[in-house]
Amino acid sequence: MVVGAKKKDATPILWSNEASSSFLRSKEALSKATLLAFPREGATLRLVTDASTVAAGAVLEQETNSLWQPLGFFSKKFTSGQKKYAPYDLELTAIFLAIKHFHYELEGREFSVYCDHKPLQYAFVQAPEHAPLVRQRQLSYISQYTTSIKYIPGSENVVADALSRMPTSDPTSQHLPIDVQFSSHIDALSLPAAFSLQRLSEEQQNDEQLHLIISDPDFPLPLQKGTFPVNDQLFPIYFNVSNDSIRPYVPTSLRQEIFNLFHQLAHPGPSATQKIISRKYVWPKMSKDIASFVKHCLPCQQAKIARHTKMVPAAFPIPDERFQHVHLDLVTLVPSEGFSHALTMIDRYARWPEAVPIADMQAATVARAFIDTSWGSIKLELRAITPNLTGYSNAGIVTLSQR
Ligand SMILES: [Zn+2]
Repeated sequence: MVVGAKKKDATPILWSNEASSSFLRSKEALSKATLLAFPREGATLRLVTDASTVAAGAVLEQETNSLWQPLGFFSKKFTSGQKKYAPYDLELTAIFLAIKHFHYELEGREFSVYCDHKPLQYAFVQAPEHAPLVRQRQLSYISQYTTSIKYIPGSENVVADALSRMPTSDPTSQHLPIDVQFSSHIDALSLPAAFSLQRLSEEQQNDEQLHLIISDPDFPLPLQKGTFPVNDQLFPIYFNVSNDSIRPYVPTSLRQEIFNLFHQLAHPGPSATQKIISRKYVWPKMSKDIASFVKHCLPCQQAKIARHTKMVPAAFPIPDERFQHVHLDLVTLVPSEGFSHALTMIDRYARWPEAVPIADMQAATVARAFIDTSWGSIKLELRAITPNLTGYSNAGIVTLSQR
């Protein structure tokens, strides 16, 4: 650490103000080295990969003011089968795995892959017919995203190199000088292309709920403020940091839009939609909002049955004498001898059933048939409670029956 120091040097280090401030600066630089950046619209992307004998490592970077900022890290242990590969195939596997991991951010974007294995530059120039099948398959997958593989000297490939040596518990990597433990589940923060940081920042500033959250220190959703570059301008953005992920706060005006972006691809249900969105964005009571958005999504309503209509059994007062309460119903029959329906009648108290054939379903016919039964002479207070009869005028039947 000290310039010009020799091994077992006993020279005391002079701790000046200058040394103290440069120590603090180094500390800050170290802490910022792995801080993920927000993706900038239209920025040049590159994927730097590396493979050790035990694992693949990669970093996805974007160019901002001629500096490369990390957007996401990736590392994965090789399987026992992959560990037997030749260096060429190990490096190619690292590229393959890294593209697979970052595919959501690389799709439709122009980028180059950088690795420190020179022969890979010619991977897409060589005739593929003689290559092993695994290599052919990997090349075919990679070519869906890019065919530009470039060489980067190992000394400039520090991050991916460190990531490819991650499993420090592995005995073969014990001797390696780099002993960095990256959180393997750091996920790159990604914004869909339809949505710009500038707009998010502007809408956040106009959001009333956000102002309330900031002014209330006890609010359950803690937010931090950061500034992010968009077209060489800096924009303030509020976000929430939890479980290694940075999730921007979504202002009220953009919530429906964010929902549409993620929901309209496959129309998943409320909890699945909520899972997808909450991985990348955050706002208070988002699951409730998302459930309501799903409920009001027109294609979902047309294609899915969200609610089954259930008939709640009505509670009828129990009658305490005969013919107080008679159930009527109509049954459609195969026409026979001029009759096409049957009128069924059941006295609720005695449970006495009657059924008579009738020629049609007209109210008058029904009333006539009812009165013509032995019950017709009894004064009835009639309540038609059968679904088929709801269209009839009860008053008409009652008048007829009382004649
Ligand atoms: Zn839907």
